[in-house]
Amino acid sequence: MLEIVCATANAHKVTEMESLLGGVVTLVPRPATLGEVDETAESLEGNALLKARAVSAYTGSVALADDTGLEVVALDGRPGVHSARYAGVTSDDAQNRAKLLVDLVHATERAAHFRTVLALVYPDGREILVEGVCEGVIALEERGSDGFGYDSVFIPIDGDGRTFAEMGLVAKNAVSHRARAINSLRALLSTP
Ligand code: IMP
Repeated sequence: MLEIVCATANAHKVTEMESLLGGVVTLVPRPATLGEVDETAESLEGNALLKARAVSAYTGSVALADDTGLEVVALDGRPGVHSARYAGVTSDDAQNRAKLLVDLVHATERAAHFRTVLALVYPDGREILVEGVCEGVIALEERGSDGFGYDSVFIPIDGDGRTFAEMGLVAKNAVSHRARAINSLRALLSTP
């Protein structure tokens, strides 16, 4: 089975990826000796490739990296690639959500989507990019306590009106951007 080094240090994401890719690949954690890779690109694709290339070069193995952004229609696609630092370079999830709700106070259009890009980089230089999108709307206020990031302000269109943070992980994974991206990768890797 293909062994892939996962570029993310986020244990939550590794578990999620492992459960969705199980049986097709074996995921191993990134070496602790490799420092954080700076996400300096101006696109999700660019950042996912930066991270996967760095891990592949360091380990000599196939490497998988992800990058996710929340793209809000009324904000011309922002915060997008800057989602993690929307309220400032040192901002946390709660501050980012608060800024988003304030920025949309007068908005009549609240459509948005999450987009996850996965980059798979082989030591021989081959590179694969896949994406997964989850369409939805930004809630008027925070609801729910599960999940992380923007989960409590995002209502997926393929759900029942609850935010991701009210749905719980199993229901979220049935429609989420990350799950869709991983499923696309799984399909690619399963094709002989
Ligand atoms: P990252 O690319 O996973 O580091 O995510 C970039 C930003 O999007 C961070 O602010 C995360 O909190 C947020 N984010 C990523 N995935 C999700 C998600 O599934 N739900 C809510 N927020 C997310």
